[in-house]
Amino acid sequence: MDVSHLLDDLNDAQRQAVTAEDGHLLVLAGAGSGKTRVLVHRIAWLIQVHHVSPMSLLAVTFTNKAAGEMRGRVGRLLNLRPDGLWIGTFHGICHRLLRMHAAEVGLPDTFQILDSEDQYRLVRRVIRDMELDEGEHPPRQVQGFINSHKEEGRRPKQIEHFDRSFQARQVEIYQRYQDYCERSGLVDFAELLLRTVELLRDRPDRRAHYQDRFGHILIDEFQDTNTLQYALVRLLAGEKNRLFVVGDDDQSIYGWRGARVENVAHFNRDFQPEIIRLEQNYRSTRTILEAANRVIDHNDDRMGKNLWTEGEQGEPIRLFGAYNAEEEAEFVIARIQDWINQGGRPSDAAVLYRSNAQSRLFEQVLLREDIPYRVYGGLRFFERAEIKDAMAYLRLIHNPHDDTAFERVINVPARGIGEQTVARIREHARAHGQSLGQATTELIAQGGLPPRAARSAAVFLQLIEQLVKATESASLAETVSAVVRQSELVAWYQGREPADRAEAREENLAELVRAADSFHQPFEDEQAGLSVMASFLSQAALEAGEHQAERWEDCVQLMTLHSAKGLEFPLVFLAGMEEGLFPHQKSIEEPGRLAEERRLCYVGMTRAMQRLYVTHAESRQTYGQTNFSRPSRFIAEIPDSLVESIRPGFRASPATAGGGPRPESGGLRLGAPVRHAKFGFGTVVSLEGQGPNARIQVNFESAGSKWLVLAYANLELVA
Ligand code: ATP
Ligand code: MG
Repeated sequence: MDVSHLLDDLNDAQRQAVTAEDGHLLVLAGAGSGKTRVLVHRIAWLIQVHHVSPMSLLAVTFTNKAAGEMRGRVGRLLNLRPDGLWIGTFHGICHRLLRMHAAEVGLPDTFQILDSEDQYRLVRRVIRDMELDEGEHPPRQVQGFINSHKEEGRRPKQIEHFDRSFQARQVEIYQRYQDYCERSGLVDFAELLLRTVELLRDRPDRRAHYQDRFGHILIDEFQDTNTLQYALVRLLAGEKNRLFVVGDDDQSIYGWRGARVENVAHFNRDFQPEIIRLEQNYRSTRTILEAANRVIDHNDDRMGKNLWTEGEQGEPIRLFGAYNAEEEAEFVIARIQDWINQGGRPSDAAVLYRSNAQSRLFEQVLLREDIPYRVYGGLRFFERAEIKDAMAYLRLIHNPHDDTAFERVINVPARGIGEQTVARIREHARAHGQSLGQATTELIAQGGLPPRAARSAAVFLQLIEQLVKATESASLAETVSAVVRQSELVAWYQGREPADRAEAREENLAELVRAADSFHQPFEDEQAGLSVMASFLSQAALEAGEHQAERWEDCVQLMTLHSAKGLEFPLVFLAGMEEGLFPHQKSIEEPGRLAEERRLCYVGMTRAMQRLYVTHAESRQTYGQTNFSRPSRFIAEIPDSLVESIRPGFRASPATAGGGPRPESGGLRLGAPVRHAKFGFGTVVSLEGQGPNARIQVNFESAGSKWLVLAYANLELVA
C-alpha cells in the first residue's frame, strides 16, 4: 500500500513523531513548527498503516472549530469520512460521555449545559436568595471560586474552612448553587469534566470499558490543560493505552483560568514519554520569528527551544504610535485597505487585542469603510440576548423543569409578572422541592398568587404547553420557527428598542431558524441516542462558551489574543500595545502573571506569516476618562534592527496631561505638502487650536479645501 503521501510533506523529526512505534510520545515545540499537523498525520497513519479502528482513537483539541478542521483534514488525508472517530474538546467529549451515562452519574436524561453567562446569573441569584451582600461576595468572584474548586476536583465538602468565616460563606454559596443545578438538571462547564472524572474514578466497570476502547489518545495544546483534564487523561490511559501529546510551554496562556503548564512535567514523570522536538518553523518570516523568539527569551523557567526557519527574511516589523485610540484604528484599517487594494483578501488580516472592548473602534472604521469583518471572543451568536431567549423556550419544550430557562423567559416578553411573583414562585419551589414550573402550577391552583399575576403565569404555562404539543412531531427547524413566532419575541424587542437594534435581533432569530435547518446531528450524538433537539441545545451551549474564531468567510478577523491560539494569518496587527493594557494592569505586579502576558504576546506575534504591525496609542478613553500610557514593555523587547517605526508626517508629541499636540509640531506648517488617505494630496493652508481641539485646513488637489481635526486627520507629510 502506498502511504507515502502521509509522510511526504513532513521533515525528519515530524516523521519520527508520526510513525513512532512504541510507548508514549511528547512533541514539545514552538509555534508554527507543525505540531497540529503532526497530530493530524498521526491519526491518519494509525488508521491507514496500523489499521487501528477509528473507533479506538480519541483526539482532543482546544476548540470545536479546531476539532471540525481536524476531522476534515484526516478525512482528506485518508480519502474517507473517519466515522466513529472521537475528535473534540475536553468539554465536548465529557458531554458525550455524560449523555450516555446520565443516570449513572445522577443526572436526568434531559440535563442541560449552563454556559458561563447563565452560570453568572444563577450565582447572583443564589447570593441574593441568601440575602448576602453582593459587594462582599461579588457574583463574578464567587463564580470564579466555584469553578476553580471544581477544576481542582473539589466538592463543597472537600474545601477546608473555619466556621462562620468568609470562606465558609463562599462554600455555602457553592453548595446552594450546586443543589440548584442538581434540582434543575443543569451542568456547568467545569461540572462536565468533574462528573466524568468521578464516573471513571468510581466505576471500575466503566473505566475498564473506556480504557479498552481508546487505545490511542492524542491531545493538542496540552500546555493549557487543567487539573481535571489531566486526571481524565490518566484515567482513560490506564496502564496500556498510548498517549500522543503535543504542546508548547511558551504558549500556555490560560493559567488565569486554571490551566496548569506543570501538566507537561507531570506527564513526563507519570508516563516517561519519548520526547521529540520540532525546531523548524514553517509559518513566519525570519524577522517575525526572531522577534518573537527574542521577546519570549525574557521569561525565566522555560523549557527552552531553538526555533528557526528556512523562510525569507521578510519585511521589518512595523511599529506605529498613535496619538489616540481612534487614530490607531484609522491607521490599522487604512493598512488593511492597502492590503486589499494590492490584491490581498480581507480574511488574510487579523487584528488582535488584549481585551474585548477594544474591538469597537476598529468596527466603527471598518463599517464606515464598508470592509466586511467578523468579531470573535465578544458576544458570539449563541450569547446574544434574543438568541438566548429563544433557546430558553426551546429548553423548556425539551425539559419543563429547566429552571434557568424558566426564569429567563417567564416575563420575556413582558407579561406583567413582576420580581415579587417570581420570588414567591421560587420560594414555593424551594420549600416543596419542585421545579419553578411545578411550583407555578401549584400556586395557581391554590390561589397562592395575586389574580393578575396568576392569569399571566397561566398564559405563560399554556404557551409552553402549546409549544410542546405543536412541535411533538415537528422538525428542529419547524420547532425553532414556532418558538420565534409564538413567543412574539420580535414584536417585544421592536416595542422597546430603536428600529435598527430590533431589526438586528429579528435577523438573528431568522438566522437561528436557518441554523436549526442546516444542523446536522453529529454522528456520535446519534450513536449515543441523543435527540436532535438535545444535540442542538448542547452544541449551542458549548459554542457559547468558546471563544475561538472560525475563518470560513472572507472578512477581516477581529479577536482577542487568547482566541487567536492555533491560528495563522498573512497579515497581523497587535493593537493596543500599552503598559496597563498589555501587559494588563493586574498582571504587572505579579511576576507569574507577567510571564503569562509575555507568552500571550509570543502567541500573538507568531500568528503572523508575512507582515506584522505593532501599534499603540498615547491616549485612550476608558469609562469616559482619558488615560495616557506608555508603549508596552514588550515592544522594547523586540530588537530595534527588526523594527521600522512608522512616522506619519504629523506625529503627536508625547501627550502630557492636559496638553496634547500643537499644530506646529512634526513639520506640519503652513504650505507643507501632505497626503490624506481619502482626499489625496494637498497643501496646508491654515492651523488653529491646541491639544484635542487642534484643527488643520488643507487645500486638496481634487477634493478642495477641508478643515480636519488634526488628531484624526492622519496626514502624511510628503517629502
Ligand atoms: P501552533 O503552536 O501555533 O499551534 P503548530 O506547531 O501547531 O503551531 P501547525 O499549525 O501545525 O503548527 O503548522 C504551522 C504551519 O506550517 C501550517 O501552515 C502548516 O501547514 C505548515 N507546516 C508544518 N509542517 C510543514 C512541513 N513539513 N512542510 C510544509 N509546511 C509545513
Ligand atoms: Mg497548533
